[in-house]
Amino acid sequence: MSEDHAAKLWDLLIIGAGPAGLSAAIYAGRGGLSALVLDKLGPGGQVALNHLVENYPGFPDGVEGMKLSEEMGRQAERFGAAMEVSEVTAVEIGDGRFSLTTEQGPRQGRALIIASGCAPRELGVPGERELYQRGVSYCATCDGPLYRGKDLVVIGGGNSAIWESLFLSKIARRVTVVHRRDQLRADHAVQQQAFAQDNIEFLWSHIVTAILGEDSVQGVRVRHVATGEEREMQADGVFVAVGVVPQTAFLPEEIARNDNGFVKVNAADLATSQAGAFAAGDVREGAFRQIACAVGDGALAYRSARHYLEGAH
Ligand code: NAP
Repeated sequence: MSEDHAAKLWDLLIIGAGPAGLSAAIYAGRGGLSALVLDKLGPGGQVALNHLVENYPGFPDGVEGMKLSEEMGRQAERFGAAMEVSEVTAVEIGDGRFSLTTEQGPRQGRALIIASGCAPRELGVPGERELYQRGVSYCATCDGPLYRGKDLVVIGGGNSAIWESLFLSKIARRVTVVHRRDQLRADHAVQQQAFAQDNIEFLWSHIVTAILGEDSVQGVRVRHVATGEEREMQADGVFVAVGVVPQTAFLPEEIARNDNGFVKVNAADLATSQAGAFAAGDVREGAFRQIACAVGDGALAYRSARHYLEGAH
């Protein structure tokens, strides 16, 4: 199958199988375009890491992130989009086409939608990399079940940190949220759930300066942001949830990015600085990083790509 994929000139290449990429793929398939979606992990993106999504319309009782991702993937395939689990490492532009270097060989298309999303941001403290997967994690849904009855630290104050804390509080003995300010950034409704949970504690106005342990995590060192006072806290696991960074390192210079690495777009049609290339979802500058918005972006990017292809005939 991959050899066929290599020989073909696709109408549309879509990098990333999160909600933005899959939404574009559903529209492309239904619209009769040949579309290939590439993702290094398969359908999902960041959504698949959420144990429960409560704010996507149509699911009044919430829906598991993994299930939502899989259903979007199935829907895209049902309408004819091709899917490949393969990492894109480079994009070249020339002769009116986009040439991707992927783990499974070259892929070529006439238009491109970049929907590669974001990856968790590292905290950047001693012990973080050394103890990764030995007590340090960026995904509560993936690793939380390993910590039954344990004491955990979650770092961050956004939606991810608080959702992860809620999930972990059902498994762990105690969850301590270490946040650098004295109020959370997470949505009000989510905050209220966390404040009501007996085994979630908050350590306000502190940063983690080191993750401690030899072979596995034993604790963290924290510092009060105002007084500078430092102390050590025991913990069996540390979940880092301090935001995200865009996955754009594989893009060429022709596709302009801002200082933080997000792809610059024209808000009206999601066009990038390169004709024929569009960006959708969390990877684009100015996104309200929500599933509902990513899905809308995917639809808009599809429409723009379609107009581009029709104009290019
Ligand atoms: P975020 O909203 O950017 O929050 C990052 C948190 O980490 C902030 O509280 C920030 O502190 C803190 N932080 C950043 N750098 C830090 C550092 N070096 N040291 C200590 N703390 C640091 O990121 P996110 O929570 O990953 O969410 C990403 C996006 O996905 C958001 O738009 C979010 O709404 C969305 N999301 C939505 C849901 C949902 O609705 N179900 C679930 C998960 C994520 P400050 O507050 O001081 O800046």
